[in-house]
Amino acid sequence: MSIDMLTIPAQCVTQSRIEELDYNNIEFGKIFSDHMLVADYKDGAWQNPQILPYGPMDLSPATSALHYGQAIFEGMKAYRDANGDVLLFRPLDNFNRLNLSAERMCMPALPEDIFMQGLEQLLKLDAAWVPPTAGCALYLRPFMFATDNFIGVRPSDTYRFIIFSCPVGAYYGQPLKVAIEPNYVRSAEGGAGFAKAAGNYGAALLPARKMQEKGYHQLIWTDAKEHKYIEESGTMNVMFVMDGKLVTPPVSTTILKGITRNSVLTLARDFGYTVEERKVSVDEIVAAHKAGKLQEAFGTGTAATIAQIATIHYNGEDMDLPAIEEREISNRISAELDKIKTGQSPDPHNWVQRI
Ligand code: PMP
Repeated sequence: MSIDMLTIPAQCVTQSRIEELDYNNIEFGKIFSDHMLVADYKDGAWQNPQILPYGPMDLSPATSALHYGQAIFEGMKAYRDANGDVLLFRPLDNFNRLNLSAERMCMPALPEDIFMQGLEQLLKLDAAWVPPTAGCALYLRPFMFATDNFIGVRPSDTYRFIIFSCPVGAYYGQPLKVAIEPNYVRSAEGGAGFAKAAGNYGAALLPARKMQEKGYHQLIWTDAKEHKYIEESGTMNVMFVMDGKLVTPPVSTTILKGITRNSVLTLARDFGYTVEERKVSVDEIVAAHKAGKLQEAFGTGTAATIAQIATIHYNGEDMDLPAIEEREISNRISAELDKIKTGQSPDPHNWVQRI
């Protein structure tokens, strides 16, 4: 790729690091592709988008994002189809969610062309980094943070937006053991739980670690007022099949509007299943399990697409769910989504963008 083919100016690496990558043994989040997109916001406008070799940045210790938390991010994946072409899954939805997060965190909106053109050009330059192996992908990490060198709580006047990427292996996660969280909360009504704000994740680490120490992979968050209603599972949206119906909590100010969540619900409706977006109480889950009506439970998110839940712990008791092979709805939707993302199935909702 020569520089003049690009509309965003690029300073390309002279020597790619791709030879260092072992496709059969990719450690999640540790290997970064050759290039990154960088754009800066100052004097009230986004300016100077450019593609640079991936590498460290100079930051002042007073960088305001490090102190007051104006930092947001996105996560998305690029896949390869059978011809080797690179496909992106619903990138506009990530763009829209980034700007939703930006608004909530009092940060400036990013123009669509910097996000979309930046993604496209980065992926053209670093196409070799999209793994050819089934189940693998190139994970893209767009993020924005406040860059004023200023100590004082107020919105920053300057920001930086970056996209970098890292190849990731297939998700072979074992079915999850999760526990319903009775004390800690991730998010409260009127808060910023619907935003992909960095601080939401930092505050979730301690409760998650405590659950892991008790032998559970992750926790199921409950509402901040009463710990009565189910919210999300770890960093995924959560869904249940009860009595043949697919049920999930509605999006609100406390729940992240997952793109996988929306894709799963859309396909479920396409397939003719009954879908209910409504409050789901912990009591309802316990009662459904007792009555033998809790057929499936799973998390949805970009990392795993669908992460099956094998066991739900609540109030001293482990509720074991039916075997994964018996789960008609999640298995069917998971397989179909994987096929759409890799160009093996028709794409009736125009989710896939070819690079
Ligand atoms: N909830 C939270 C808190 C998350 O961090 C994520 C991951 N982005 C999700 C849900 C799933 O969202 P998506 O399907 O867009 O990856």
